[in-house]
Amino acid sequence: MRTKIVAGNWKMNTDIKEGVILASEIDSELKNITLPEDVKVIIAPPFTHIAFVEQVIDHKKILIAAQNCAAETEGAYTGEISAKMLKGMGSEAIILGHSERRAYYHETSETLVKKTEQVIQNEMIPIFCCGEKLEEREAGNHFNVVKNQISEALFHLSESDFSKIVIAYEPVWAIGTGVTASKEQAQEIHKFIRKTVADKYNQKIAGDLTILYGGSVKPGNARDIFSMPDVDGGLIGGAALNADNFIDIIKAII
Ligand code: PEP
Repeated sequence: MRTKIVAGNWKMNTDIKEGVILASEIDSELKNITLPEDVKVIIAPPFTHIAFVEQVIDHKKILIAAQNCAAETEGAYTGEISAKMLKGMGSEAIILGHSERRAYYHETSETLVKKTEQVIQNEMIPIFCCGEKLEEREAGNHFNVVKNQISEALFHLSESDFSKIVIAYEPVWAIGTGVTASKEQAQEIHKFIRKTVADKYNQKIAGDLTILYGGSVKPGNARDIFSMPDVDGGLIGGAALNADNFIDIIKAII
């Protein structure tokens, strides 16, 4: 069964008090909503908030994700936070390879191979982000860019480990810009991702793969984008920082 997901990436926003309030608001609004069995809601607060946010949510309805993790298991890596530590705090998923991490922290496919391994070893869900820059799309290279990002970081995985992956397609030109990919553009590349996975693994694994769209999803456009057959939900940035907006986006998938 293919799971649908609405995940909120809070990025480096909110202090702990604000984060706990936001999580509590989302939690209490979700109490009035019956989520279908195939729909998951995920929030990804900053690392520092996880242990606090974890205490104010209903874990049957909301999973917590971290926004990144260390590539190494443990040791002399000052300032890093391991997948094991995040798991211990209550994380059930980790966002990997977000375009902001690729752009500002020089995250490469090589690093992402290691981070994915850490997340899988610690029994969490890797939410693997991919997506092209504007100039790559304009040059007609978006299919190749996305295929390379996925194959370089993930295609060494066994069938059973690849089945644990969630992919988030996030065109860089749509993140935080207010410009959303059209539903046709999203569908086209999601279908391509699914075919790429089917060619590498098999139809069953590709059919069960959850592929999220991310890039300026808002309550006003979520239903349209989520209506496409290969779009299985969204990774939401800005709109996830307001409980009402986030809940409206969740309603768009149920
Ligand atoms: C994101 O950062 O993953 C994202 C999709 O941001 P926004 O929704 O703000 O474009």
